[in-house]
Amino acid sequence: MAALKVVVAGAGGRMGAANIRAVAAQAGLSLHGAVANASGMTLHAAVDRPGTAAIGQDAGLFAGIEALGVKITDDMDVALVGADAIIDFTAPGASVALAQKAALLGLVHIIGTTGCSEADDAAIAEAARTGARVVKSGNFSMGMAVLANLVQKAAAALADYDIEILEMHHNKKVDAPSGTALLLGEAAAAGRKIGLKTHSVRVRDGHTGPREAGTIGFATLRGGTVVGDHSVILAGPSERIELNHRAEDRTIFANGAARAALWAAGQAPGLYSMNDVLGL
Ligand code: NAD
Repeated sequence: MAALKVVVAGAGGRMGAANIRAVAAQAGLSLHGAVANASGMTLHAAVDRPGTAAIGQDAGLFAGIEALGVKITDDMDVALVGADAIIDFTAPGASVALAQKAALLGLVHIIGTTGCSEADDAAIAEAARTGARVVKSGNFSMGMAVLANLVQKAAAALADYDIEILEMHHNKKVDAPSGTALLLGEAAAAGRKIGLKTHSVRVRDGHTGPREAGTIGFATLRGGTVVGDHSVILAGPSERIELNHRAEDRTIFANGAARAALWAAGQAPGLYSMNDVLGL
C-alpha cells in the first residue's frame, strides 16, 4: 500500500513541530510494532493560521530537522487536496471545521486538540458518522492508554475510595482540567459505572463542606515548561494508592498520533479511541 499522505494542522505550534518530526521519521517506513494499514507516511502539507510566524517556512527546518521541501501554508483547502490524513493539534473550533472537511473528503482525522465543548464533541461525532475516520484522544501516548485502563480497574476494585486527579502543565496551556485529566476521570467513572459529568468536582474554593462521597475531584497546577504530569489518587481508610504518569517529551504524543493515523487508514468511517488503536 502507498505511504499515507499526512497534513499536519497547527504546524506552527509546540505539538505541530513534534508531529512534523514524527511524520518525517516514519516516511517510507512502517511504524515499529504498529498494526499499520498503510506503508509508512509522508508529509503532504503543513498548515497553520494566517499571520503566524511559521507560514512560508520549510516545515522540516521549522521543526528543527532537515528541509522537507514542504512550506507551511495558511490555505487549508489547498493543503487537503490529495491528502489521506490530518494530524490535528490545534484549537476546538479549528478541529470541528477540519472534521467536517474530513467527512466530506473521507479522510483520516487524528484529533489531539483538547478543551472541546459538548457541542464540539457532538459535531466531531457527526463528522465521524458521515465519512471521517476520526481517532480522538486527550492523550496519544501509549503509557497513558495503559494507565487509563489501570485506573478503570482500580476505581472498580476500590469502589468506596475517594478519587482525586491532579495535573500540572506548562504556563502556556489554555484549557483546564487537561484533556488527559478528563480522560483519566472518564476511565475512573467507567470503573465506577457512573457519569463523569454528574460526579465530578472541577474546582474547590472557600467553605466547601466535607467531600461528597462518590465524586471524582480535579486539581490543576500551571507553571514553567512541564510537558504533562498526571496523578490519580485513590484515598481510602489509612492508605492511598497513586497512579502517576510523567510526560518528558512531546514525541510520545506525536508518535502515538502517527501510529493512530496508520491504523485508522484501514478502518471504516467512525469515531475511535487509542484503546481501539492499541487493541486494549
Ligand atoms: P500551541 O498553541 O503551541 O499550537 C497550536 C497551533 O494551532 C498554533 O500554532 C495555532 O496557530 C494553530 N491553530 C489554531 N487554530 C488554527 C486553525 N484554525 N488552523 C490552523 N492552525 C490553527 O499548542 P500545543 O501545545 O501544540 O497544543 C495544541 C493542542 O493539542 C492543545 O489543545 C493541547 O492541549 C493539545 N495537546 C494534546 C495532546 C494529546 O496527546 N492529545 C498532547 C499535547 C497537547
